[in-house]
Order: sequence, then C-alpha cells, then structure tokens
Amino acid sequence: LGKELDLVMFHEVAPAMPFFLPKGAYVYNKLVDHMRTLYAREGYEEVITPLAYSPSIFRTSGHLPNYQENMYRLWTDDHVEALAEDLKSADAKKVHAALEKDAFGLKPMNCPSHCVIFGSRKRSYRELPWRVADFGRLHRYERGGVVHGLSRVRSFCQDDAHIFCTRAQVPGEIEKFIGFLNLVYKAFGFERIDIKLATRPDKRIGTEADWDEAEAALQQGLENAGLPFEITPGEGAFYGPKVEFHIHDALKRSWQLGTIQYDPNLPERFDLGYVGEDGKEHRPIMLHRAILGSLERFFSVYLEHSGGNFPAWIAPRQAVVLTVSEKVDAYATDVARRLRARGLRVDLDINT
Ligand code: ZN
Repeated sequence: LGKELDLVMFHEVAPAMPFFLPKGAYVYNKLVDHMRTLYAREGYEEVITPLAYSPSIFRTSGHLPNYQENMYRLWTDDHVEALAEDLKSADAKKVHAALEKDAFGLKPMNCPSHCVIFGSRKRSYRELPWRVADFGRLHRYERGGVVHGLSRVRSFCQDDAHIFCTRAQVPGEIEKFIGFLNLVYKAFGFERIDIKLATRPDKRIGTEADWDEAEAALQQGLENAGLPFEITPGEGAFYGPKVEFHIHDALKRSWQLGTIQYDPNLPERFDLGYVGEDGKEHRPIMLHRAILGSLERFFSVYLEHSGGNFPAWIAPRQAVVLTVSEKVDAYATDVARRLRARGLRVDLDINT
C-alpha cells in the first residue's frame, strides 16, 4: 500500500532504510507533530542529540560488549591515517582491531545520550520526575533475513522518551503514562489494547529485593490505571520488568507498539545521582517509554488499519478539484488556489 499510494520507497543504496516520499513524509511529520503537542500537555521536554558518538559512551552503556553486532560504526580518512601512523604497520587485523576500539558509532538507542545530559550537572529531587523526549534517528543493523517492509528496518525513529524519577514516583508515572497512551491509541481508532506485565527472566542482574520492588511498582501503577492486564512471567529485560501494550488492527492482527521499562541499571552504569530531600545523594530510576514505538512500524500498521484512507487531519491530500470540461479549467484553478489559501491540501486534476 505504501508503494501504491506513493508514500514510501526503498533503494539498494540504503538497504532496509526507507525513503519517505512527499505524501509519506507529510503523514510522518503529522504523527511527530501530534506527539509533540501532547508532550507539552503531559509535561515532557524535548532534546536534540548527536547521531554519532565516541565509542566510550557505548562502553559505559554496555552496548559495545552486548550490542556491537547490531551497530553501525563510522570512520574517517583522518582516523585511518592516524591509526596507520600509530601502528606503523599494514597489518589489516591490527587496523581492524584499532578501528573497532576507536571508530565512532551511530546510536542504536537514545538512552545513553539522555544519561549524559542528566549527568552533566548536579540534580535535585525537585527536578524529578524529568521526562525527556527525543525523535532522534536511530540505526540498527538487522540481518538481511530479518528486515521486512516498514515493520523492521535499519533506520528509524521512535516517539522515544525517558523518565528519570525517584523510586517512590514510579507507580504514579506508570499510571500517568497509561492514561497518555490510551488517549493516543483511541485517537487513532485502536479500541482494543492488551496489556502485559513482563516479570523477571532467568538471566538477570540485581537482587531479588530490587525485583520485588520494581515489579510491585509497575503492578501498582497498572492497578491504579484501572485497566486489566496479564502477567507474562520471565519475559522482562535482564535489568528490570516492563509493561507491553498490544493493539489489534482492523484485520484483527495484534501488534506490540508501546512499552514502558523499569531500569535501575543504566543510571548505575552512568553513575547518575540527585540530591534528595535528606541532602544525600540518591540514584534515580530510569523509565524507557514509547507509545507509537518505531514511527516507521506504526506508519505501516496504521496504513493497513486505515486501508490508506487517512482521516482528514493527517491525510496528505484532503480534496481534489477536477473538471469535466476544459472550459472551466481557469475557474477550477482559482477554486484550488482559494482552498489552498485556507490551509487545505488540495490537488488539481484538469486536462491542461
Ligand atoms: Zn531507552
């Protein structure tokens, strides 16, 4: 449908990375605008962060030891020359090892950069919860067999945000987030939402007491929100439990879009702290959350859900002026001009 309606294309020069054509880009930007408007109301602040980073940040975050095979690395001529100078050798293996150690990486997630911002100065409990949003473009190398249309791509952006908060604030933030998410899904006509609370997996870090507290906090937030949910034991991330939100599209297929994850691990790795009411240093909790998830994927789900008939507020073309005879072409042109002047997105279909 994306190709048929001239919304999106792919090309071998950037495999599995979508090109959004003018009409597709219009819809995409409308989705972003919509979330931005709601962010202002829901108490989020937006930041813009670099795409490429020194590998040191990904060593701290743990991406390099654990996620390197999914990362795009960058090098420049200057970089290679400096290495060759250092190495005084043409040993390809050594150059490769040195590049692996030093080459910049494209960010696969926004979380590390938000930790860097949080940790860039002293923080007080008065600033918490801090909800920081980022529509940054992300790159993840997915194997050829795994990429699929718009639903699994290598270049994408999320309606991504992180909430830095105290432990006590977690249930309230979960409840608030569910209210926000409900509002968004209803606006897009997704009526049925299945909620799953994914709890501690076999392979995990942290103490049992930490997990008890984290799972109880998410559960309490869900109960306060008053929506039914199901517990999926063992499905949580290695560092913390998460809540997943699945919607059903018009064809009754189920898609996971939204998520909120409890993470005490990254604040620990980045040594983040805030000064509490007691004047002492405390570690914040980080909540990773998205409502639409990957915008590319949401775009494809919503495109199928609406059968390409987008509602007027998001449709790239709201009206077409067409004629039955060329005698009225001038009048039709004037009508189209007047509609455009009123802010409507109008196409003109005349013979000349
Ligand atoms: Zn994150």
